Amino acid sequence: MEDSFISQKDLDRIFGHAQKEHPRECCGIVTGPEKEAKGNIVYPCANIQNRLHDENPKEHPRDARTAYYIDPDELLKILKAAKKKSHSIKAIYHSHTENQAYFSEEDRKRALVWGEPLYPGARYIVVSVIGGKVEEFKIFAWDEKAGDFRQEKHLND
Ligand SMILES: [Zn+2]
Repeated sequence: MEDSFISQKDLDRIFGHAQKEHPRECCGIVTGPEKEAKGNIVYPCANIQNRLHDENPKEHPRDARTAYYIDPDELLKILKAAKKKSHSIKAIYHSHTENQAYFSEEDRKRALVWGEPLYPGARYIVVSVIGGKVEEFKIFAWDEKAGDFRQEKHLND
């Protein structure tokens, strides 16, 4: 089998996290060696969207059922650990609950800074969880030429 940036085992871990967090959106990060899935680490992160929403509903109108926000402290720790291991940020994942797996306008905004990807080379994995079960997932990658994110075919498709 051809090598993918992520293994089925990693995906299963993500799906498990998505189902556990349901009906809240889950979020997390996958780091690993650039060229292979072996050695990947899946980091399930805390979705602090509910806290943000409770503290300032005007600024954060959505709660964790329809949005995610990775705990910045946790994110920093993961980035530091990745640097130490010479790992790259391979994927950022989150779930959509009672909704399909697509790259929303909000997801796009979050992934970009001044029109450039925040984590160049990182894929975005969106998992759809319906009624507590993973229904589908999609992978989106930055397309330099198009200047936009594009859905990527996964080997298991
Ligand atoms: Zn989303």
